[in-house]
Amino acid sequence: MTDRLLKFTFHNAPVRGEVVRMEGAWQAMIEHHGYPAPVLRLLGEMTAAAALLASNIKFAGSLTMQIHGDGPVKLLVVECQPDLRLRATAKLREGAAIADDAGMRDLVNASGQGRCAITLDPTDRLPGQQPYQGIVGLEGDSIAQALENYMRQSEQLDSRLWLAADAHCCAGVLLQKLPGDGGRAVLATDTDAWERTTALAATITAEELLKHAADTITRRLFWQERLDHYRPLKPRFECRCSRGRIGRMLLSLGQDEVDSIITELGTVEVTCDFCNARQAFDAIDVAQLFRTGSVNPMGDIPAAAPH
Ligand SMILES: [Zn+2]
Repeated sequence: MTDRLLKFTFHNAPVRGEVVRMEGAWQAMIEHHGYPAPVLRLLGEMTAAAALLASNIKFAGSLTMQIHGDGPVKLLVVECQPDLRLRATAKLREGAAIADDAGMRDLVNASGQGRCAITLDPTDRLPGQQPYQGIVGLEGDSIAQALENYMRQSEQLDSRLWLAADAHCCAGVLLQKLPGDGGRAVLATDTDAWERTTALAATITAEELLKHAADTITRRLFWQERLDHYRPLKPRFECRCSRGRIGRMLLSLGQDEVDSIITELGTVEVTCDFCNARQAFDAIDVAQLFRTGSVNPMGDIPAAAPH
């Protein structure tokens, strides 16, 4: 199983860790998009980070990480559901020129105006309740540094991230220092656990992250440490778009607006930014939609999974 997220704590030490690696899921997320290599790298690092953050926090709901860029990349979005279903997309500015070695700063923070927003949307959100959103500037040279900064502000906990991505896989390591001694006196004896474990993790290179399975990375980095493991998780790609959702979007636009598109173009076509699935509605579909308030009497047919 190449798509895996491992969670563990260091035995009797106030530090917890996670290692994630995605191949199949990541390749499915990007296969229809043809992103330039530097964009792939940044989006892949965000995808690995979203999976790490989502499974690190105690929260039942979805996590969305968005970068609004001021450079050649306008928008990067990664969504992660509580069971680690992920999807991701990037929007480039028209005519954007991207150098092969462009980093985060060049892509999304050219004039220091780039922002990263992290939204937590509870599964059982009450009517009228807003999702929680935190926004940080893109300080540092990498998304890992920007997110460490975010976690320090939002969770008040020291965290370190190591991330890597290419067209084949995306991967990452997260360590987080747990508060105080957690009431466990024994922790006080391991006073340098944070310095020691982060120094070990910092020996990982991007090449190693991209090359090895999550268990191998964990073993190689922390073979001298005793780890208490949780059940491994399996991140996967799944788009949440469907003909029904697009139908509801068209309903919210109103019949006059949709009819005018039909008059002009013959069909209304919507392509999903995440999976590239295309949904077309012709005059008959639109008439049926506004007559019945739903797209299909046979039910909500999900968009075809991309192959
Ligand atoms: Zn989709």
